[in-house]
Amino acid sequence: MAEVNWYNFVWFALAIPKHSFILWLVFRDALITKEKMYTWGYTRPTLCLFCFACQENRDHIFFRCSFSRHVWRNVIVECLIFDPPLDWEAIDSWSNVHLKGRSLHATICRLCFGATIYHLWRHRNDLLHGNTPCSDELLGQQVKWEVRSRLIARCSAKKIVNSILLVRK
Ligand SMILES: [Zn+2]
Repeated sequence: MAEVNWYNFVWFALAIPKHSFILWLVFRDALITKEKMYTWGYTRPTLCLFCFACQENRDHIFFRCSFSRHVWRNVIVECLIFDPPLDWEAIDSWSNVHLKGRSLHATICRLCFGATIYHLWRHRNDLLHGNTPCSDELLGQQVKWEVRSRLIARCSAKKIVNSILLVRK
């Protein structure tokens, strides 16, 4: 099997397995979005459950939706990354800039990336099953809390982590 560029930021030492799994499915375009179901013959509405303004597909759910953009803004500014990618086509070049290497910063960025994708997809599924919507700010806090917990549990540089990834209370 040919090596793919995204392998190293889906699977790495501190990766959270459930996040990596969803990320892997996303990169393989294997998540069942409404738009995909429509192409299979389902006729239910295919609008995004976050904004109800656009078709729900991979690019929209994770990057282009206004809700997702706000979540990214909440999370990613903590990593000092100010330009989250707009679609999956841009991921390769974006990851080479922001997710490459073994530094603590690159690890935090990888963790934040996977956690954001995971929580957006989980929240989308919650909404699909009729659960109450949560704010983009709360979702961003959940992402940061999970990443911070992972780092504190597994990383020896706790002071550095605390100073880099503050979760506001
Ligand atoms: Zn949307």
